[in-house]
Amino acid sequence: MLTASDLAVACLTPLSTCDWPGQLVATVFLQGCPLACTYCHNPLLIDPRARGTVPWADVADLLERRHGLLDGVVFSGGEPTRQHALRAAMVEVRSLGYRVGLHTAGTYPTRLAQVLDLVDWVGLDIKSVPRLYRAQTGVDAWAKAIASLRAVQRSGVAFQVRTTVDPTVQAPEDVAELTELLCGLGVEEHVLQEARPDGTTEEYREALRATSSGARG
Ligand code: SF4
Repeated sequence: MLTASDLAVACLTPLSTCDWPGQLVATVFLQGCPLACTYCHNPLLIDPRARGTVPWADVADLLERRHGLLDGVVFSGGEPTRQHALRAAMVEVRSLGYRVGLHTAGTYPTRLAQVLDLVDWVGLDIKSVPRLYRAQTGVDAWAKAIASLRAVQRSGVAFQVRTTVDPTVQAPEDVAELTELLCGLGVEEHVLQEARPDGTTEEYREALRATSSGARG
């Protein structure tokens, strides 16, 4: 049986005020992601074969010491639902008295549905309109993202749907179309974030510079 120690943890942020709106959290970044977003600011987290670098004992130790100072733990990535030990880790976090947040791009809707009973808040990234999904992420993952949205909506767990707007792939009208599509699917608030150059590839930074200087075709 898997335990929290089976998780491949790539990085641990002991305190974040922005990973879960309104909550003080520790954020656990899990290794591995099936997508390859153009703007990924931590491409080292993508490789699913890479080992974790932070033992789960370090996470548990931090949580033991931060009682009363933290509200919860956010599992982020990478794609946290890729790892089967996620549920065991969430159980442990809850048993320590913390709330659980989850960042996901919804690429594993069945696995997501299997952990939602342990989750208090989901930040669900929907990357683009369907026709641009592959250009944005390398994978046609729209249907899975929407299956995940449906699972979250059915669960009654609080959630936020977010999109990182990448001007090298999406024009303003594509983003407006996505907001409209999501509205039709019952999403009341679609949060837009700007793609940032930090941590991205040189090629992407160059493409971003070109669009911001008005060179987009
Ligand atoms: S989903 Fe996140 S971790 Fe995965 S490639 Fe996209 S930005 Fe990077």
